[in-house]
Amino acid sequence: MISSDIPSQQSLILLELHRHTPEFNMRNLCETLCILQGEKPVMRLVAAASAVPNIRRTLSGIGIHTAVSSWRLNTSYKTSLGDSYTVNAPRQGDQNELLVVMASLDRSLAEQCLGCEENGSVPGELGELLGYPKCCVEAYETISADNDWLAAILANSPLNLSYHYGANRLSYLFFERSLFYDYFPCSLDCQPTQLITQKVRQVLSNHGMTLFAESIKNEMLAPILLRGGILVYLRGARWEDGRLVYDLSLASLHGWKVHHEADHDSIWNSNNLVRCQGTLDFFRDDSWLGSCSENLLDNRLLIFQGDGHE
Ligand SMILES: [Zn+2]
Repeated sequence: MISSDIPSQQSLILLELHRHTPEFNMRNLCETLCILQGEKPVMRLVAAASAVPNIRRTLSGIGIHTAVSSWRLNTSYKTSLGDSYTVNAPRQGDQNELLVVMASLDRSLAEQCLGCEENGSVPGELGELLGYPKCCVEAYETISADNDWLAAILANSPLNLSYHYGANRLSYLFFERSLFYDYFPCSLDCQPTQLITQKVRQVLSNHGMTLFAESIKNEMLAPILLRGGILVYLRGARWEDGRLVYDLSLASLHGWKVHHEADHDSIWNSNNLVRCQGTLDFFRDDSWLGSCSENLLDNRLLIFQGDGHE
């Protein structure tokens, strides 16, 4: 019940950690609560060496063991989605170097995960220990410099009229929050990810953070239009008589693979669209501006829905 939505003592401790050490982000907070409830075996997080002692001390205070890498992460390339891909390198001892921290109620499990990451021994073993779905761990193997996670997710997601919000990783580009763990879902239709989202919502609710969970859920529910290689987060969009009505001045944009001619696109004048049999027609009020066929990687409208009973 929202009326009894008072954060638990553990939540308050973790919120305080986040306030002092922003590298311990809100997703880490959600994952830590899942560990405390026995829903997730291990959490992986990356933090600068300077932040690690505070993270370890705080987690230890609520009964969580940590193991810290004896190596640092060296960025090998960054994508237009803001993700860094890293390789392991010897530590140099400075305070800014990025370290991997594994956290668990079971000390040996945390150390085992660190060993898995260092040796890269059995493919999928680490993902399983971190509680990531097998389908998503397998799909992750297809992600590379030439095939980023967004292309992989979109290519794997059939052109549905709508998707359950629970595997929407795209909203993370705008808010850096999601209700599932820190991995890339294999597709917008990934059922195991949707179940994790429901589990995390329940855990947050159990810890008096229902309103927080609802605010993330609302972020994950807004429609997203992919047009000209730009993701358009249609904040406040609504359906009226079969039209999706929106105000682009309220939208947020994320440049992904921006087309050269994107600036001159007539859709920037639109305030509603109609989707019919795989075609999007854009309008300014009742004036037709243009149309396009939807495909997997561009000119695509993504609609997200809650659970049937919500
Ligand atoms: Zn999956």
